[in-house]
Amino acid sequence: MTQSQNRQPDQNPQEAENRQDPRWKVIHADMDAFFASVEVLDDPSLKGLPLIIGHPGPRGVVSTASYEARKFGVHSALPSTEALRRCPEGVWRSPRGGRYGEISRQVMQVFREFTPLVEPLSVDEAFLDIEGSLKLYGGAIAIAHQIRERVFEQTGGLTVSIGVAPNKFLAKLASDLDKPDGLTVVDPDGIQELLDPLPVQKIWGVGPKTTRQLNDLGLHRIEDLRNAGLEFLMRRWGERSAQHLWALAHGRDSREVHEPESSKSISTENTFTVDIMKGSDSDKFLRNAAEEVCQSMRQQGFRARTVRLKVRASSFRTLTRSKTLDTPFIDAATLYNTGRELLTHVDLEAEGIRLLGLGVSGLVHASQPIQGQMFISELEPARDATVTGLIDQSRSDSRVPPLKRGSLLSPPPEKSGGGKGAAIEKSDQEETL
Ligand SMILES: [Mg+2]
Repeated sequence: MTQSQNRQPDQNPQEAENRQDPRWKVIHADMDAFFASVEVLDDPSLKGLPLIIGHPGPRGVVSTASYEARKFGVHSALPSTEALRRCPEGVWRSPRGGRYGEISRQVMQVFREFTPLVEPLSVDEAFLDIEGSLKLYGGAIAIAHQIRERVFEQTGGLTVSIGVAPNKFLAKLASDLDKPDGLTVVDPDGIQELLDPLPVQKIWGVGPKTTRQLNDLGLHRIEDLRNAGLEFLMRRWGERSAQHLWALAHGRDSREVHEPESSKSISTENTFTVDIMKGSDSDKFLRNAAEEVCQSMRQQGFRARTVRLKVRASSFRTLTRSKTLDTPFIDAATLYNTGRELLTHVDLEAEGIRLLGLGVSGLVHASQPIQGQMFISELEPARDATVTGLIDQSRSDSRVPPLKRGSLLSPPPEKSGGGKGAAIEKSDQEETL
């Protein structure tokens, strides 16, 4: 991790100061020729060849081209027939979505090591809001270096290009300026100088159609847009679009990095005053944590697919385990049972437990229909929801003692398979309280 800092040592204190500019809040990270690079990674004999990912048939289009193939004018979305004409010596490979997805997950996971606020734009690129991580990692540029190294390390040799900037638009623009394996930092005091000479199509959202319209009006570079004036743009594109274009032409973009709901998580953890051992103490924590997390999940209107367990041993060794269930759940019994099962998979080597955490991720809106439930009694989810509603009600009403699920009052059988039915039965008892 310090390797990158050695490679680019701070020249002087002033430079070091600049390298910590708190205005660098957003990173855009974009894998280089992603599909083609994955193919080369898996088959090094393809290295250096004009590699084209796609189907060379008459109706095919190019999905990704290696940098060698790009020299022939082959690029994404080009009809395959045209790619064959431009680059007859091109080496073709069919896309392998599953493999790209696998690497994509590794890469996104690396991004999340640096901030929880990661907004994937596609399988191979994402925005990262790093404002909250600047101090921890020694500034935006240090984060960028570390991301590149971690991606390289984690994938076994893939490169990523990174843009560091005060906002999303500039970060996305920057990541593209020095591909492949680039790192471009936008000087917050030199934004106009950077933008002015660039062609208008470099503005995020300006596609071929708008580019043509702008060019027809004699507007070719971003500077031309500024000189044309806001009113001119408004007459042509209407107030909203013109103002958006105007702001971007000045490097202003107030859009925030949005973490997709499916990667949000809800969790709770506790550091014990005295280390505990696996057994009744850990069970007690998991029971309460499951109730707490599920209540929060219901309040926010989610179900979850994935259960996460975090264990910190006496020696500060931190272990995490997770399990993704087939069906999204909302009930504490499922969370507790799964958390308990995950804990059995943690080998503490006779150490005590200093911290325990239980949480959920892979959230989906509770209103979303659940697939694969066709053959389970349709009454079950409804009954479960009723019980759950009663529990939440009792918790928010100070006049009644809080209800707990029957299934949570005593440890369930070791095996959690088929636990759903059991949980419902016990919940019914509870309902009669
Ligand atoms: Mg890319």
